[in-house]
Amino acid sequence: MRRPIIAGNWKMNNTAKEGAALIEAIKPLVADANCDVVVCVPAIDIPAAAEALKGSNIALGAQNVHFAPKGAYTGEISADMLKEYGVEYVIIGHSERRQYFGETDETVNKRTLAALSAGLTPIVCIGETLEEREGGKTEQVLDRQIEEGMKGIDDISKIVIAYEPVWAIGTGRTATAEQANETIGYIRKKVASVFCPKCAEKVRIQYGGSMNAGNAASLMAMPEIDGGLIGGASLKAPDFAAIVHFDREGK
Ligand code: PEP
Repeated sequence: MRRPIIAGNWKMNNTAKEGAALIEAIKPLVADANCDVVVCVPAIDIPAAAEALKGSNIALGAQNVHFAPKGAYTGEISADMLKEYGVEYVIIGHSERRQYFGETDETVNKRTLAALSAGLTPIVCIGETLEEREGGKTEQVLDRQIEEGMKGIDDISKIVIAYEPVWAIGTGRTATAEQANETIGYIRKKVASVFCPKCAEKVRIQYGGSMNAGNAASLMAMPEIDGGLIGGASLKAPDFAAIVHFDREGK
């Protein structure tokens, strides 16, 4: 019922030229995908990426968006600026932004609401640190990130949630399929109680954290996992394509 969504997060990798070349390499490999495919590229790569993606089945995503429509926010980028280039998705609240750039649940919330009202689909990242998991605080952290970060969203099924345990991002340490499924199941229950049960059934929840060609099929076979947010493995066309083709039988 929920269409899987595999999104690459290039982070701060690839110049515009390198990015366009990577897209050219990915395009033929995923042309027959049974899922939504997205590449979230650095902001300055967006024009070249938009050009390279023309006529393909791959959607364009950004990695951040400011909450104001315009104004004195040096270095920031507005939703309209992204939309002009055909950007459809935007990652919001990635743990690296929370860790290094002072992103909070409050700013995540403001960015998410701005993206939605501009017609962008936010990919809102949530997840616990290793310390929080080992301290038994995972559910408490997720509760707060959902209650505060997603406050005021009219239709929660219009966003994509990325569950990314911080301890699994870029570390090679993947959550087991069972761990990811259980936690995403918890997130769905929480969304049902904060928003509505029907919307919780509709909202797509990705797993992110060292997902790769070798573990994608087992993660994607889990009933609660609707997709992946892929960092490192999205930088190589064959690896990313293998994840996109996680299961030809498809969910
Ligand atoms: C990410 O950047 O969202 C991510 C999950 O990275 P990686 O796949 O490299 O762990």
